[in-house]
Amino acid sequence: MPLDDRATTDELLALARDLALRYVETLDDRPVAGVASPSDLAAAFGGTLPDDPEDPREVVKRLADAAEPGVVATSGGRFFGFVEGGVLPAALAADWLTSTWDQNPGFHVLSPAAAAAEEAVAGWLLDLLSLPATASVGFTTGAQMASLAGLAAARHHVLAAAGWDAEGDGLTGAPRVTVVVGEERHATIGRALRFLGFGEKTPLVVASDGQGRMDADALASALDGISGPVIVCAQAGNVNTGAFDPLPRIAAATRACGAWLHVDGAFGLWAAASPRFRHLTEGADLADSWATDGHKWLNVPYDSGIVICAHPESHRAALALHAPYLVRDPDNPRDGSDWTPESSRRARVFALWAALRSLGRSGVADLVERSCDHAQRFATALAAVPGIEVLNDVVLNQVLVRVGDDERTRAVAASVQRGGEAWLGDTVWHGRRALRISVSDHATTEADVDRALAAILAATEAAR
Ligand SMILES: *Cc1c(COP(=O)(O)O)cnc(C)c1O
Repeated sequence: MPLDDRATTDELLALARDLALRYVETLDDRPVAGVASPSDLAAAFGGTLPDDPEDPREVVKRLADAAEPGVVATSGGRFFGFVEGGVLPAALAADWLTSTWDQNPGFHVLSPAAAAAEEAVAGWLLDLLSLPATASVGFTTGAQMASLAGLAAARHHVLAAAGWDAEGDGLTGAPRVTVVVGEERHATIGRALRFLGFGEKTPLVVASDGQGRMDADALASALDGISGPVIVCAQAGNVNTGAFDPLPRIAAATRACGAWLHVDGAFGLWAAASPRFRHLTEGADLADSWATDGHKWLNVPYDSGIVICAHPESHRAALALHAPYLVRDPDNPRDGSDWTPESSRRARVFALWAALRSLGRSGVADLVERSCDHAQRFATALAAVPGIEVLNDVVLNQVLVRVGDDERTRAVAASVQRGGEAWLGDTVWHGRRALRISVSDHATTEADVDRALAAILAATEAAR
């Protein structure tokens, strides 16, 4: 590296460190929501692209000045929306190094280190989540792409069994695949089905109960009436209630008819890492593919999803990339792109590796359990207030709260979000407006929960 470049890099990394530290230190006090208006942000980021180079130090300062007023403090302890995890310190530092190393884990030759880390983390994850040790693992952007990858493996597998080459010949003229989903599936399942050519409107929808759990009897009778290839999509952790589909019975029904079972466990699958909550994931190990996230409950930076498949050959057949210049090294078999829909991508595994090691098995369990205890604290305090109703059984980290009627609930959500003391979501659960509180950040303390509770109660009073 030329000396000038080296000096600049030194200054830039020091500057980035100062800016990053300043940000982290303000997390306890800054408003949770961004404060700048969209037009202020447009002005700060906009203007014409300069003709001439700008000093990189000025660029980085300008970026921080432009962005910070519009940054939402999702990695602070008082953000309770959308199941957004925070960032563990070790994962943050690993993520910095990941950018520095600029590795491409798509192919072994491009990063033997990333390939080895992916193999190691794959083993740890299968162990921690109690999934089959022989399963294949791919590191995707998020659970959306993990479900896409898992369902691509499913499509390959069930159509190959019916004598059809989906990868080669597409779906035109193929045996009809029946896809079965629960009424309360996550929206990303529909989008994955769209990308895979199954269509979003064609699945057979099985009714869910008041908590959002798929009705296993209804599934069994639906499967009775189907012939031909079948893929069933179940869920471990509903994004509103945290409820788990009855996986042992769903797995039994899908196995009985030779169907493929995909489990969307974006955050819920992590319950398996906790002795207290493991029972919720019972039966998950019987599925054929799984999708989960690192960037939610494990608290690694975005982006970090994980696809796991009990049939490595189908996983690879559905996703692997082939080109004459992609020469495989038989001694070093892991090409990361075999297991994800992407070719080049970020070596997101290093942050996962650092997060898992810095927590250890007990730390992951503690993260899950503390989050769930905080959710209970919210639920207990709010249920005790006249006029406030907790709509779900708080089995995990999700709490749905209704304040009087739709209008008042919406007003409370808006007022809390605007106030900056905390941030919680606004949802509709079975036709009724609700506040959605998700606890999934290692940084959240009881004091943070109490500050959020005070903000909710004050907004409730104001909206009376
Ligand atoms: C968040 C979530 C997803 C989507 O995950 P991304 O990481 O945003 O792609 C899918 N399913 C469930 C249940 C989720 O909570």
